[in-house]
Formats: sequence, C-alpha cells, structure tokens
Amino acid sequence: MTARPSYLPSGLPIPVPEPDGVSEPYWCGLREGILRVQRCAHCHAWQFGPEWICHACLKFDPAWVAVEPSGEIYSWERVWHPAHPALKDHGPYLAVLVELPHAGRVRMIGNLLGDPLQDVRIGAQVEGVFEHHPQASPAYSLLQWRYR
Ligand SMILES: [Zn+2]
Repeated sequence: MTARPSYLPSGLPIPVPEPDGVSEPYWCGLREGILRVQRCAHCHAWQFGPEWICHACLKFDPAWVAVEPSGEIYSWERVWHPAHPALKDHGPYLAVLVELPHAGRVRMIGNLLGDPLQDVRIGAQVEGVFEHHPQASPAYSLLQWRYR
C-alpha cells in the first residue's frame, strides 16, 4: 500500500472504529482498498452509516457488502472555518456528501480532491480515492472523492 499525500493537514484525530466495533468492517475495508456498506440479509435494504439494526425491517446485524466506490455529489460545502486547530492555516477545503445510486442511494461524507476553489456541481459523477496512512498509529485509510 502506498501512501498518498493527505488532503487535510496532519494533526487531526485518527479515525478509529467505535468501541463496540459496529463500523469496523467499513474501516478495515478502506485499509484494503474496498468500500463496504451494510445491506440487510433479510430484506436487502442498504444503509450507511453503520448500525447494529436494519432500519427497514429491524433485524439485527445487517450484512456488509463491497460496492464500487463511485457516486454522485448530493450536496457539498466549501469549508472556510477551521473546525479543528490543525486546520487553522488550511482553508478552504471541500466537503462533499456523495450518494451511491448502485447501493440503495446511501450517502457518505468525504472531501473532493483538487483545487478547493473549483466549481462543484450537484449531481456530478465522482469516484472514490483511497487515502492510506500506513505510518500512522494506528494505521488508517480514508475515502476521498474526485470527478470521474
Ligand atoms: Zn432488513
């Protein structure tokens, strides 16, 4: 796994699975370059973020499935305000809410790579880019987005 330059500066908290492990398949998948979301084995409903229960049929333990990391920009924001001290001299940056049409239209948040002042279009096609941080402790990976 090769390390890519980080979209955001160092010094931000390292994302880790919740102590109860509900999101562990997601984070482990990213480390392997795989995007996983939940899909209920009983009613086949998709969901993200991770939960212990299916929102549609209320059965426990929704299954995890690998999906293509591609989607459409559902919403976005150009962030100017430093929400963390590590971002004090780093702005703006682009946060996007990406919808996955092929996975029940679940939505997930990431960053849009490239010029932070670029035009952003609702509905634009984007693909996932795995940003690996193997030297971090613990090692982790993020899923960022870029125009297709
Ligand atoms: Zn279900």
